[in-house]
Formats: sequence, C-alpha cells, structure tokens
Amino acid sequence: MAQIKLSNLRHSYNPNPTGDDDYALKKIDLTWEDGGAYALLGPSGCGKSTLLNIISGLLVPSDGQVLFDDQDVTALPPAKRNIAQVFQFPVIYDTMTVYDNLAFPLRNRGRDEDIVKRRVTGIAEMLEVTEMLGTRAANLSPDNKQKISMGRGLVREDVNVVMFDEPLTVIDPHLKWKLRSKLKELHQRVKATMIYVTHDQTEALTFADQVVVMQDGEVVQIGTPVELFERPAHTFVGHFIGSPGMNVLPCDVKDGGAFFGGEQINLEGPVTGTGDGKAEVGIRPEFVSVSKEGTGLAAQVRKVADIGRHKVVEAVAHDSRIHAILEGEAPTAGDAVMLDFKQSQTRLYKDGWLASSPGEGA
Ligand code: ADP
Ligand code: MG
Repeated sequence: MAQIKLSNLRHSYNPNPTGDDDYALKKIDLTWEDGGAYALLGPSGCGKSTLLNIISGLLVPSDGQVLFDDQDVTALPPAKRNIAQVFQFPVIYDTMTVYDNLAFPLRNRGRDEDIVKRRVTGIAEMLEVTEMLGTRAANLSPDNKQKISMGRGLVREDVNVVMFDEPLTVIDPHLKWKLRSKLKELHQRVKATMIYVTHDQTEALTFADQVVVMQDGEVVQIGTPVELFERPAHTFVGHFIGSPGMNVLPCDVKDGGAFFGGEQINLEGPVTGTGDGKAEVGIRPEFVSVSKEGTGLAAQVRKVADIGRHKVVEAVAHDSRIHAILEGEAPTAGDAVMLDFKQSQTRLYKDGWLASSPGEGA
C-alpha cells in the first residue's frame, strides 16, 4: 500500500494541444493518502476515467508525475504498479468458472493454492456468490458478472490501491445499495486505499471519507461529505451536491454587504474575496425557512413537491427561483410568503468561488 501523489499533472488526447480546451485534465495536484476511502465525483466527460487510467498506467500523462510513496512511476507499465482496477463493464473470462476467475489475479502472481482458496472463498462470501463458484462465468447475469469483476479487483492482498470506475452502472438499483455498503464495510476491514469513481452524488457520499469533486478537467474541492454539503468551495459543488442543490442568487456587493434585488442579505461573516467578479449568494434549501408573515424576503410560492420525508417548496423572489426544504407544514402554490435564510449558512461567491468567511462564533 502506498500514498499516491499526482504532481503538476496535465493530459491532452490531442498530440499538439494549443489551449486549455485541448486538455482533458488541466492541472492536477492531488495526494491520495494511504488507506483512504475516496470518491472521485463529477459529471460525465470531466476527466475521471482519464485520471484513473493515468494512476493505473494505462495512460501516460502529457505533463507531470505520478508518485507512489515518493517514487516516480510515471513511466511504469500497469503490471509494475500493483494496482487493481475495476471497470464500468465486467472484465471476466467467460470460459472459466467463477472460482477460477476470482483465483486468476492470485495464481497469476504465483500464490499457493491454499492462499488462493482462502482468499477466493472469503471474497465470494462477502459478495454472496459462494453458490456460483462452480458455475461457468458465461452463464451469469450481467449483475453477477460485475460482482465477479469487482471480486477480482478485491481478491489480492498486496495492491497499492483498488480503483473502481463507475462499477455499479450495470447493476440493478436494489443491488447497488447493497454492494455500495459492502464496499464500505470491506474498506473498513482491509484498509486498502480505494478510489471510487462516480457521477452519482449518493454513491460518492455513502462510500467515501473524502470526496474529490471534478469539473471540466479540474479538481474544484476535496472534502468530507459534510464539508461539501456545508461549505461548497464553488457554486458548482453547491449545485452538484444536494437535492435540490444550493440556491445561487445574483447579488451586488456594496460596503461589504450583499444585496439581492436591492435587499440586504446577511452573510455568514465578512466578505473575503477581492476583485469585482460576478457575485452570488449561496444558501442551501435546508437552511431556508418559510413563513406566512414575519421577516425576510418576500416571495411567491410556485410549486410544492411532497417527497415523503419532507416537502420541497419552489418560490420566486426578484425573478429568481429559490428552493426551501421543509419538514411538516408547508404553504401551497400561489401563497405569498417570507423566506428567511439561516445566517451562519449564507455564503458569498465571486466568479463561482467561495468569498465569505464564517463570522465570530459561527
Ligand atoms: P469521465 O470519465 O469523467 O466521463 P473521461 O476521462 O472519459 O471523462 O473524458 C474526459 C474528456 O476526454 C472528454 O472530453 C472525453 O471526450 C475525452 N476523451 C476521453 N478519452 C478519449 C480518447 N481516448 N481520445 C480522445 N478524447 C478522449
Ligand atoms: Mg468515465
């Protein structure tokens, strides 16, 4: 096992890149600590697979280095890196039995058959495929093929990192939930570094201790699920995480205060960002309260969606849509209401980046 460091990494699939737009990865400096459970989260096309393939050695980056425990492995082929990679679609040998498929990565490295047996039966039990061990892989359902593919990634005991590239894409929804919790349990048991790639926030937040959020070839934030929820470093993270995502409202900054449609919005604390880039207020729907009378921002309710555990209210103020998540009583469409933002959770963004800091005692 090792610490993995990506230093000054850039990658272009274009042999003669001219500008930033030609780079699938723009500039990545990132350290994956030994034993961590990481998720790499971002929309399709943002560079997640490119990044994984550079770590595993399937791709050589255009610029920069990959270091395992400070040793430069940038030029090493995948087989020399001691990495297990599980892909989006199952990679198994159809003609072999499930047992032989799971045993393959170990036999390939000359492990004794008694070790092979111990590891294979252990992994099979964990993935609940014990009764399939004697079956030929060709006869399995797509779900089970992918389970075996994951098992092949997990069966070795000597890997630097296990990487999963959107492994649950082909898995049935109810099984997804189960496998995800299994992976988390497994991480706690084996303590190997794991990098789990997904575009699904729920998968990322349930699996990982640390989530790396990517957008357009760049890392925008690294943090715990709570940090990403509570203090998005960028409005992109605010939008991408949460359901619905953070409300982002255009504003003017005057004398250190934020004004939305001419009304002052109390921020968490002082404005820190300098310059006069596009200013926005960010507040999550969870921290917006709604009342019929009282103080706050006058708004009109447009829609109310009852989604079981809570209600999502969509209101409009100064031509902007604002969501509020409410437990219990909620207004109805057409109502005139007052919206109140929890001050300690009201942030300022400039050009997309967080530009306020918590006030005293916050
Ligand atoms: P993700 O895994 O986040 O969906 P990828 O790493 O696959 O994203 O892709 C990042 C960008 O690089 C995308 O714009 C994609 O079209 C491009 N890309 C990926 N693979 C190749 C390739 N083999 N050749 C050219 N462009 C590629
Ligand atoms: Mg991908």
